[in-house]
Order: sequence, then C-alpha cells, then structure tokens
Amino acid sequence: MIRGVVRVGVVAACLVTAGQAVKIAAAPQGGQTSITAAGGLEVLQLRPNFFMIAGGGSNVGVQVGEDGIVVVDAGSSAKAADILAAIQKISPRPIRYIIDTSADADHVGGNETISKAGQTLFTAPGSIALPGNFLGGVASIMSAEKVLTRMSAPTGQASPYPAAAFPTETFDLGRKYMFLNGEGIEVLHQPAAHSDGDVIVFFRRSDVVVAGDILDTTRFPVIDVEKGGTIEGEIAALSKLVELAIPSVPIVTREAGTIVIPGHGRLCDQLDIVEYRDMVSIIRDRVRDLKDAGMSIDQVKAAAPARGYTRRYGSDSGPWTTNHFVEAIYKSLPRSGADTRGAKAAGK
Ligand SMILES: [Zn+2]
Repeated sequence: MIRGVVRVGVVAACLVTAGQAVKIAAAPQGGQTSITAAGGLEVLQLRPNFFMIAGGGSNVGVQVGEDGIVVVDAGSSAKAADILAAIQKISPRPIRYIIDTSADADHVGGNETISKAGQTLFTAPGSIALPGNFLGGVASIMSAEKVLTRMSAPTGQASPYPAAAFPTETFDLGRKYMFLNGEGIEVLHQPAAHSDGDVIVFFRRSDVVVAGDILDTTRFPVIDVEKGGTIEGEIAALSKLVELAIPSVPIVTREAGTIVIPGHGRLCDQLDIVEYRDMVSIIRDRVRDLKDAGMSIDQVKAAAPARGYTRRYGSDSGPWTTNHFVEAIYKSLPRSGADTRGAKAAGK
C-alpha cells in the first residue's frame, strides 16, 4: 500500500474504509497537501504538477503545465460546477482535454460543463491552428470509441446526454498517446474489463496512473456484463496496472513509487493492486470450479465464493452487492471453464 502522505487520499470523505488509519509523513516528491474545496470536495496534490479531486462522483485526475490542463474523468453532473471551480483554483491555465475512463454517469456527467469552460488546443497558436470555432473552441473530450457509442445511444433511443457532453476524439486501438505538459500520456484501452470502453491513463513522467473503475477500492470491482464487461478482461486489466506500476524497490522504506488513482476510493501503489487482483482471481477460481461442477447461479451464490473478502469489499445492499459480483463472474466466464484449464494442462 502507498505509505505516507499519499495515504491522505484515504480522507476522501465517503471513501474511508472503517478503521483505516490515516498516516501522514514526508511527501514522495515535493509538497503534497490536501485541501477541502467547495461542495465538500477534497483536492490532493500528488506531484508538483498532478492533483486528484475526490468526492465529486468519480475520482478526478488533474495534470497541469504550460500547455494547459488535462483532466481525467469529469465526475458527476451534480458536482460539475464544484469540480470546475476546484480545477480553476488549482491553475488558471485553460483546460485542454478531458479523458473519460468509461461511459459511466459518475465519470462523464461533468463533461459538458468542464469542456465548455476549456479551450481546445487545435485552435491555439503553434498547433495545427484550426479555425477558432472548431467544435465551438471548447476543450476536447477523449475516450475509447465505445464510450461515444454508449453516450450517443445509437439504438435510436434518446441519449441521456446533450451532444456537448459527447467525446470529440475517440479511438478503437489498444493505445492512444499525447505529449503535453512535458510528458507522455498513454491512454490504454482495456476492451472487456469493467465495461467495453475502459481506459487506463498513464502519465509517464509524473508516474501517475488513473485506473477508472477497473479499480474500486471501496468494493468488489463493478463488472458491467450488459456493457461488455468480463471477469477475464477485468483480471487482465488489473494485471496491466500491476505491470505499469513500479514500487519503491530496493529501498522499500522510501515514500515513493507509482501512484495509482482508482475510479473510487483511496490511492494505491503496486502492492495494493497485486492484492486486489489476487482477491478477484481467487473468487473467480472458486466460481469457476463451482460452475464447472454443474452448479446453478443460485447454488454458487449460496456457496459464498467471496468469503474472506466480504467484510472489506462486500455489500448486501446498494447498486453493487456481493451477489451482483458473483453473478457477473458466473455469467462472463468463458463458456466452458474446463476448456480453459484443459488448454492450460495441455500447455504444461
Ligand atoms: Zn465509477
């Protein structure tokens, strides 16, 4: 787990796990402070040029520099004005990009408000200098293609979002990149994890990764099977986070290492992600064994495959219960678990 001040992230209001201590020590790089902003939001400085805003729906990542501001996730629409005020307090520079980590309302709800307050780079001097009215001149919204598909409701139903909230730059490949504010920014599509439109955003010089809802330290990961989420893709995405993050080795006492911002909850380091992934993998294995033994979904739930983890991550009520999680694993496991293991055995 991330030691020291990074743990101040724990104070993110509703995100505190009961009994968890908040420890404050020396910052890993530069000063790291936490301030309370309007609307009950919490603003944390993680690096000299990187901030996190908590309490506005999803966690929001904010990178600032000479090119302007890059925002990862826009929070909920109810908190949009407060999030915008908090961003503008961090820096007076123009907001250039919003990157959506999924199409969930608590991540894209603030798209319109925040993008309208910004200014695209495409019309700036020194850029490709498109006419000033390009897309109304507002900040660009980047996401995986599937996020636009979900938000624009192509099935003929009315979209719950105004067109101004839609992503303006989408991609369908594994990786999209930019170089802004002195660092490479990699946007990595995880095609079937929490949903089919998830991205992980890696700020290479800041050494900060924004994970979106692939990682939710407040509960079992939400695997939205209706929107293309799968247990195998979720575990693959968590493994990708483990691969991107570097812990403080060999000097383990140092308050350092890659900072991973989850969609919801407290800041993590590589070890936290390893533990979270292993927890998800163990529960997946249990569900698979029970399913392979011919059990129905109800029988699998009754066998409590999430035991040992429910106190920390489980819930019997609310939008994402332990049973919802078990059901999502059961439904999204490859058709025949036996096939997968047969192949594994054959590979030995
Ligand atoms: Zn979320």
